[in-house]
Amino acid sequence: MNKAIKYRIYPNKNQEELLQKTFGCCRKIWNLMLSDKINYYKETKKSLQTTPAKYKKEYEYLKEVDSLALTNIQLNLQKAYKIFFRDKKIGFPKYKSAKKSKKTYTTNNQKGTIQININKIKLPKIGEIKAKIHRQAEEGWIIKSATITQEKDGTYYASILYEYNKQIEKVVITDKVIGLDYKSDGLYTDSNGKTCGSPKYYRKSEKKLARLQRKLSKKEKGSNNRKNARMKVAKLQNHISNQRRDFLHKESTRIANLYDVICVESLDMKAISNKDFGNGKATLDNGYGLFQNMLAYKLQDRGKYFVKIDKWYPSSQICSKCKNKKQIKLSERVYSCECGNRIDRDVNAAINIKNEGLRQLKIA
Ligand SMILES: [Zn+2]
Repeated sequence: MNKAIKYRIYPNKNQEELLQKTFGCCRKIWNLMLSDKINYYKETKKSLQTTPAKYKKEYEYLKEVDSLALTNIQLNLQKAYKIFFRDKKIGFPKYKSAKKSKKTYTTNNQKGTIQININKIKLPKIGEIKAKIHRQAEEGWIIKSATITQEKDGTYYASILYEYNKQIEKVVITDKVIGLDYKSDGLYTDSNGKTCGSPKYYRKSEKKLARLQRKLSKKEKGSNNRKNARMKVAKLQNHISNQRRDFLHKESTRIANLYDVICVESLDMKAISNKDFGNGKATLDNGYGLFQNMLAYKLQDRGKYFVKIDKWYPSSQICSKCKNKKQIKLSERVYSCECGNRIDRDVNAAINIKNEGLRQLKIA
C-alpha cells in the first residue's frame, strides 16, 4: 500500500535557486523530448525512444540538477503518450510554458537519498531542507519518492510517498453501516439523517476570497498594486485548499473510526460541476472525490469496507421503505410514496445507497 504525506518546506536561498533550476530543467527536457518525438514521427511514422542523457551535451546545465527528476519526466511523457493512444479524449501531450505550467518535480529514494529527520527533509542534490514535520512515518514505512512543488503564492511543499505492507484482518460486517449522499453545497447527508456541511471558517474564507478577487479586478493592469493583489489571492487560495484538506482528513478519520462499512455513490464529477456550480465553485466537488479517496484508504487500513455503487443506480428515485420507483424532480425536497413513507429526499437517497452497498458487499 502507498500513502503520501505533504510537508511544508523552507528552502534557504541556495536551495531555492537549485529548486527553481530543477523545475526549469524538467520543463525544458519535457519540451525537448516532446518536440523530438513529434518531429521523428512526422518523418518516419515511428515513435522515438529518447532519454534525458541525449540532451546533456547540448544543454550542459541539465547536468547540474537531480538526474532522477529528469528520468521521471521521461516516464511521465511516455505515460502521457500511452494515455493519449488509449483514450483520444484525453488529448495529446502539450508543451509546458514557463508562465503557466506547475513548478514541480519528482525524485526517487535510493538507499536513503531521501530522509525525514527532525525538522528537516533530506533530498538528493539539494541536501537537508528545513521542514515542518507534522507527521512521522510509522514503523515499516519505506520512502519511495518525493514530489517537490512551489505553489502560486510562493510556498514550497514536499510530498513524500511511503510504501508499506500491512497484514490486515478484515472486520466482521456488523450493523455499523452507513450510506452517504453527496451534497453539492456541503459534503454529505447520511442514512441516519445527519448532514455534514462545510465548516464555518471555510465559508468565511470563501467570502474573503470573493472580496479579494473583486479588489484584484479593479487594479490597473501591469501595476505593482495588481501584482500584490494577485499574490494575496494566491495566498488565500492556498490557505483555503489546505483548510479543505484538513477538514476532509478530520471528517474522513472520524467516520472511518465510527463505521465498519461506508457506502457512497460514484459521481460523474464533470456533470456535477457543470450542473451545480458557477465559476470557481467546482473546487468543492473535487473535495468530494478527495474525501472518497481518503475514506477508501482509511477504511482499508482498518480492515473495514468502502463500497462505491454505480453512478447509474437511481438512489433518489427508489422508496427506501417499499422499493417502489418513481421520478422525483430536483425541486422536490421530500420523497413521498404511496406506501406512506415521507422522508427528506437526501436521507432517502443515502438509505438506498447504504442498502445497495450492503447488497453488493454480500454478493462479492
Ligand atoms: Zn414506498
